[in-house]
Formats: sequence, C-alpha cells, structure tokens
Amino acid sequence: MSDNILSIIPADPDWQPMAEAADAAMAVLRRLVPQFDGFVTTEYRITWHEKVTVIDCGANLERIECPACQNAIGVEWWSDLLEDCVETGFANLAVTVPCCAADVSLNDLHYDWPCGFARFELEAWNPNRDWLPADELAQLAAALGCDVRQVLAHI
Ligand SMILES: [Zn+2]
Repeated sequence: MSDNILSIIPADPDWQPMAEAADAAMAVLRRLVPQFDGFVTTEYRITWHEKVTVIDCGANLERIECPACQNAIGVEWWSDLLEDCVETGFANLAVTVPCCAADVSLNDLHYDWPCGFARFELEAWNPNRDWLPADELAQLAAALGCDVRQVLAHI
C-alpha cells in the first residue's frame, strides 16, 4: 500500500505559525482538497517539528541539480544525507556539494520534484488532486501568514 502526500510548508524553513493561523490554514486546505471524492478518503495532519526537518518527495524525486554549477547531484548522496539527519533533524542546512565543492544551503538545491525543509507542515494524505495552482497557494499563505511551498510525495 503506497500513499501520496501533499505537504504545505512555510518557504522559510525556521518559521512556525501561531496555533490560530495553523488552524485557519488547515481550514483552507480542507476546502481546497475535499475529504471524500467517492473513491479515496483524504486524511489531514498538522505537524510542528522541533527541529528543521526534511520534507522530501519520496519516490517522486527524479533529479537534484546544483545551484552553483548546474550539474546533477547523485540521488544516492541525498539518500545517505537523509539517513544521517532524519533522526536528529538538521542543525543547519549548510552543505558542501559533491559536484563542485560549493558551500550551499540544502534548501537551495534544485529538486525535481520539489523537496523542502520546515519546522511546520500541513499534510493531506491521498489528496484527490494534484499540484495546487498559485492562487490557491496564495490563499494558504494568507491564512498562515507566510509564503508557502508545496511538496508532493509518493511513499
Ligand atoms: Zn555543483
């Protein structure tokens, strides 16, 4: 049994909302992604992470590109990194990339499909829709009080 997860996260990895804003944003998400379409039942979760946590897209990750030299970075390098950090969280996002030894933020690597880092997350498990368009992300951002990104994971 596999799952698809739509995660909405603050664009700023360290940022966390107040509880009221989190609830308001979840109400928007529930409206945009209705629970039952006659086939699957979507489940919703709000998560506050104690430390910056990777929000990765699972099997949807096809390519990572270095923002400094534009070369591809092995997905294996990424998987090893996640294994090391997934328990402890990320103390910071600074990393030296293997392609050109540039010092960059993990948050600035180009992930295809997108991945992110966050201390707060709204999730819709098995949503009956695909990517949210910009105007709907703007509604979530307005409710939450910060810019947001979306991650679509397949696990
Ligand atoms: Zn590079």
